[in-house]
Amino acid sequence: MSERKILMIPGPIESKANVLRALGAPTLSHTSPDFIKTFGNCLEMMKKVWGAPSGQPFIMAGSGTLAMEMAAANLIEPGDRALVVSSGYFGERYAALLERFGARVSVLRAEPGHTVSLPDVEQALGEHRFKLMTITHVDTSTAVRTDPLPLARLAREYGVLSILDGVCSVGGEVLYQEEWGIDVVLTASQKAIGVPPGLALMVASEEAIRTWKNRKTPPGSYYADWTNWLPVMEAYAKGKPAYFGTPAVNLIMALEQGLGDILNEGLEARFERHRQTGQAFRAAMAAMGLEMIPASPDEAADTLSAAFFPEKVEGSSFMQAMAKSPVVVAGGLLPKLRSAYFRVGHMGGVSESELQTTVEAIASSLAECGQAADGKNAWDAARAVLKP
Ligand SMILES: *Cc1c(COP(=O)(O)O)cnc(C)c1O
Repeated sequence: MSERKILMIPGPIESKANVLRALGAPTLSHTSPDFIKTFGNCLEMMKKVWGAPSGQPFIMAGSGTLAMEMAAANLIEPGDRALVVSSGYFGERYAALLERFGARVSVLRAEPGHTVSLPDVEQALGEHRFKLMTITHVDTSTAVRTDPLPLARLAREYGVLSILDGVCSVGGEVLYQEEWGIDVVLTASQKAIGVPPGLALMVASEEAIRTWKNRKTPPGSYYADWTNWLPVMEAYAKGKPAYFGTPAVNLIMALEQGLGDILNEGLEARFERHRQTGQAFRAAMAAMGLEMIPASPDEAADTLSAAFFPEKVEGSSFMQAMAKSPVVVAGGLLPKLRSAYFRVGHMGGVSESELQTTVEAIASSLAECGQAADGKNAWDAARAVLKP
């Protein structure tokens, strides 16, 4: 096996040793007392991490897209209207997905690097009777963060359910689901939660569950139907096993460690650490002469950064130079700009030395491509934010 590299992509991210140990432990029966306890703990801890004490958590084997699909399948009936507030690639995915379940979808699109304006959302809400609205908290294609709170308030005002794609935010960006009045917040294990890929996670509000209960037609997906999964989640929460589909036992054992680590750190402390890390990383990027995709610092995510290649740097040469470094970063994802930028994830338990190695690798790759960049100077700029 070649030398292991540091994963600095926007998911999957590095997992801590305790998480990996739980993943590699002997598999338990899904009905064993130890696993029942683990599953119940995860459900309880999710409510804390999401800030949704009266929410209904769901833990499913699958990726984040399954969580997006589960929300759509259970809340949309054919002909319902849905409003997608899109800040990039994952907003477009939600629009396509909702259409598959028969929704009549309106999409509000922000220019790359920007967020959709509040007045535009309000105007759209006034035009049709929408059943739900989706918001991408951090669009991983652009590193743009949308503030969900004012949008969720608007949705409430108009009697529209709000769904937050928090796949690149939950566990990293400031978020209090219940206080902010968001009906569904969904994510996946491999992003800021810090657990290997394989779990789709979401918490649904009482209102979302009520809406699903009042459906006139069954959900268009058998696997994702809450009719099958709600009794399973309720049973494990009460310390009893239940079966619909075999749970991803080892991943759930790893999730117990990952969520435990988040709560041990403390939500506020964790959000603050991500805020500082994001700011520090952007300071280092700026010191190397890189321009960010997010148009303003307020719209820049704390969980990842996306920067344009400088004019004289050929993107593919830069990525080749990075491939020889000890760090893995990601290329562009937004179709319009795909070869014009790159992305770096800095969420979860990323350490100072990992950040430093990343900054230095970017600096030497830029230098290799003809852009003068001083890694030491860039890291000093980051440190000035981390240790004022
Ligand atoms: C990663 C991501 C997804 C998709 O998650 P998968 O686990 O890859 O299916 C959806 N939305 C956002 C914002 C993401 O970052």
